[in-house]
Amino acid sequence: MLSVKATAMVALVAALAAVGIAAAVKGRASATRVSPIVPTAAVVPVVAKATPTATQGDDLQVLAARHLLMPVQGFDPKGLRDNFDESRGMRRHEALDIMAPRGTPVVAADDGTITKLFRSVAGGITVYQYDMPEKFVYYYAHLDRYRDGLAEGQAVKRGDVIGYVGSTGNAPANAPHLHFTIFQLGPEKKWWRGKAVNPYPYLVAR
Ligand SMILES: [Zn+2]
Repeated sequence: MLSVKATAMVALVAALAAVGIAAAVKGRASATRVSPIVPTAAVVPVVAKATPTATQGDDLQVLAARHLLMPVQGFDPKGLRDNFDESRGMRRHEALDIMAPRGTPVVAADDGTITKLFRSVAGGITVYQYDMPEKFVYYYAHLDRYRDGLAEGQAVKRGDVIGYVGSTGNAPANAPHLHFTIFQLGPEKKWWRGKAVNPYPYLVAR
């Protein structure tokens, strides 16, 4: 399977310096003749075009600056394992498995909106949460249950409990954990379609 790893991509934005050429044209005023008025200076704005790659790189830098919260309450970042690139059957995992006892509160890693409460064969009970600018989706899976009253469209703050660690979906019953990942949304902003971003550096960097 083709894997495109662009998470650590650093976008290089070229700054264009606009050189203004001031052409001063001085017409001689004549009392006896009417001269056409000539613009004395031409200022041409230079617009730097950002490539899609540069924009995505910028968004990742913004994400890094947010200092995401560990989505499992009380989990020590030192215990976090980077299993994003491990294979799971035919697929790449593209998420982190954060091991924790069943029932441990799962908290929003960032401010945002509960976009979708979804149950799937693999993920079990899951939450998709947009960040505030709707550039990223946070995905929380294998939940034991949702927090009471959690609903689509709700605004959540970083640290708000959204559910509890479990083993629904294809997680082993004896190894409850949170399957957590980040998707970078495309311009169409579909919660189910995005490029997986490894959360590891964003959760351990402080
Ligand atoms: Zn997983």
